[in-house]
Amino acid sequence: MISPSNFAVDIGKTLKPHEYIGMVSREVLDAYLRERASKNGAKVINGATGEKKTLEVDAVIGADGANSKSIDAGDYDYAIAFQERIKIRNDKMMYYEDLAEMYVGDDVSPDLYAWVFPKCDHVAVGTGTVTHKGDIKKFQEATRNRARDKILGGKIIRVEVHPIPEHPQPHPIPEHPRPRRLLGRVAQGGDAAGYVTKCSGEGIYFAAKSGRMCAEAIVEGSENGKRMVDESDLRKYLEKWNKTYWPPYKVLDVLQKVFYRSKPAREAFVEKCADEYVQKMTFDSYLYKRVAPGNPLEDLKLAVNTIGSLVRANALRREMEKLSV
Ligand SMILES: Cc1cc2nc3c(=O)[nH]c(=O)nc-3n(C[C@H](O)[C@H](O)[C@H](O)COP(=O)(O)OP(=O)(O)OC[C@H]3O[C@@H](n4cnc5c(N)ncnc54)[C@H](O)[C@@H]3O)c2cc1C
Repeated sequence: MISPSNFAVDIGKTLKPHEYIGMVSREVLDAYLRERASKNGAKVINGATGEKKTLEVDAVIGADGANSKSIDAGDYDYAIAFQERIKIRNDKMMYYEDLAEMYVGDDVSPDLYAWVFPKCDHVAVGTGTVTHKGDIKKFQEATRNRARDKILGGKIIRVEVHPIPEHPQPHPIPEHPRPRRLLGRVAQGGDAAGYVTKCSGEGIYFAAKSGRMCAEAIVEGSENGKRMVDESDLRKYLEKWNKTYWPPYKVLDVLQKVFYRSKPAREAFVEKCADEYVQKMTFDSYLYKRVAPGNPLEDLKLAVNTIGSLVRANALRREMEKLSV
């Protein structure tokens, strides 16, 4: 985790040997999932090419991403993410063998974060923003600049730009970005339902999990295919989803509001990341998707320390401002 002043904190210290954050190349992962579904009896139809056809089905899981057209999901806001896949020299790649970088700062993103993620034989360098979409290329340049020495001489092999669902303005349903996720026998999952978390921007786990949860509700409601499902059967998936994931969504929402809002707050955020208790709480919620019950004494210390960090970071900003006058 790298602060606006380039102060870097290693946040993986509390991970146990079997715990890790996996990095995937989507073209590899998606092909693997498609093939596995096919082997298990699914009929795969390429929807992107060929002529338009009609298919009669009992239920639909709308998993067609952030630009979903499965149902009218209502108004929503979105972040734009820009990513360059960069092939760097093998010796430079060694540095990223076991490491991912997250950069925070107004230069790289005014409201989210920028990243260098390893992708096996190359790196993905990218950034995102909700509030300043028109400046995305400027932020990308700043991100490349911050990682300059580590990606020096790299060759861009692919450029990707994509929307990431965010909360609509004003926000009708507190825990979910999309006003509507269900209509008759169509239920939305993944980005089509807006299941990307704030702060971390994580969406792959939630896409897979929501697809599975929805499918399970259909299997159960149809009594293994003996009965036609209706909206109330699919609604059970939404109820289970809300109950299971509301706390982590809310915590990440608050974290984004508190820590990404200004330079001092981001400095404080990175400083806080050095705290082993913070790391443990963060990874527990990231790896196991639940808000771990904290230790009240540690929570209190954390609150006091956080205020301390914010005060220090604000004082630092004031001193910096004085220097630049
Ligand atoms: C640059 C970037 C970096 C990200 N990094 C991370 C990360 O590090 N970790 C993480 O967890 N998440 C990350 N995310 C978010 C993550 O990619 C999404 O949350 C996740 O892919 C959502 O999965 P999905 O299956 O719902 O949608 P998608 O992955 O968007 O898949 C939707 C699919 O539907 C297909 N489709 C659309 N319309 C139709 C149609 N009419 N007929 C047939 N097919 C159709 C599309 O071609 C696509 O294949 C990132 C997103 C971006 C943009």
